[in-house]
Amino acid sequence: MENANLTIDLNALYKNAKYINDNTNGGLIATVKNNAYNFGLKESVETFYKAGVRNFATTSIRDAIFIRNLYKDVMILSLNPCIEFETLKEHKISCVLPTLSFLKNNLENMKDISWHLEWAGLMRRSGCTSQNELIEIIKLAKENNIKLDGIWMHFSYADEFDQNNTYEKEKELWFDILEQAIKIHKFNYIHAQNSASYARDSKFKNHTHVRIGISLYGCPPYSKCDLSNNHYGLTLSAKVVAINHLKKNESIGYSSSFIANEDTKVAIINLGYGDGLIRKRVNGFDVEINSTRYPLVSMMMSHTVAIVDDKVNVGDTVYFYSKSIPVYEFTQKGVGTNSEQISPLNYDSLDVKYIPCNY
Ligand SMILES: *Cc1c(COP(=O)(O)O)cnc(C)c1O
Repeated sequence: MENANLTIDLNALYKNAKYINDNTNGGLIATVKNNAYNFGLKESVETFYKAGVRNFATTSIRDAIFIRNLYKDVMILSLNPCIEFETLKEHKISCVLPTLSFLKNNLENMKDISWHLEWAGLMRRSGCTSQNELIEIIKLAKENNIKLDGIWMHFSYADEFDQNNTYEKEKELWFDILEQAIKIHKFNYIHAQNSASYARDSKFKNHTHVRIGISLYGCPPYSKCDLSNNHYGLTLSAKVVAINHLKKNESIGYSSSFIANEDTKVAIINLGYGDGLIRKRVNGFDVEINSTRYPLVSMMMSHTVAIVDDKVNVGDTVYFYSKSIPVYEFTQKGVGTNSEQISPLNYDSLDVKYIPCNY
């Protein structure tokens, strides 16, 4: 029997990217960190490029170089500060400029590189944290002929709808800072919005770009998000390899992980946590077999178990994720974020298939 299958429809990625890129006048920076959210770096970048995308962001210098080797005419932003200045120059990789001390410490080596000044916002992962620091960076960079090409921040609350509406406050703070910054310097790249922020507000005024990840991969960033332009393209499927009949009180799996409380027909399915399915996706949640939902009750390294009925047979295809049982359904049910479910999927144990982009 064939292995479990991961199928990625690149047409969905194309449509998502084209829609956002067109609606921002070419202002899409496609976020392709972590193997393009595990959709495959090469396939994703090539598809986004086809859709007109000319800006990419990643946390990995290795991946940035890989993208540069594919295309000469794209902007590639390293989202992590990097002090391998020769590498940045050689491959024309733009880089974040996080703090005044980074600038002071590396002043001599930072010429001929494009820098994107980072505002920490409430994320406080990196970036400068006061208006004084930001203004001082701009002044010092200008005095030293350091190319300040961009200014940006990352919202920590755009995906949240908390009682205090923290996102709105975070936005106000940023707009204020940005207003001061653009008074004294002209930036070619001004970007703050991730998928959630873009879905909530569309592109902000004064901003040149949006920095989108998960929406490109067909998962809406929050539960009430409008789905009319969302194209979903990830399918994870496996096969029923055996049907077992458990008598009342019989168990199945390691440590009796499931005990039948009546006579029960179960399907053994050839996909488990070794294939990257996260444990929380299993208990209490469904799979789809022949267009019907069945509950999962147990998981092992290479197998899962579902309670089924007489319509299910050995050899039937079992869908863990597909258009009709999408990843984001389980995000909304509390299994984990979209990327937490997608990132672990194991390219070495699954049969991976790409549906080529027809555009
Ligand atoms: C991951 C990431 C994004 C994209 O976020 P999504 O919510 O997936 O759209 C944007 N900017 C930065 C800095 C990121 O790390």
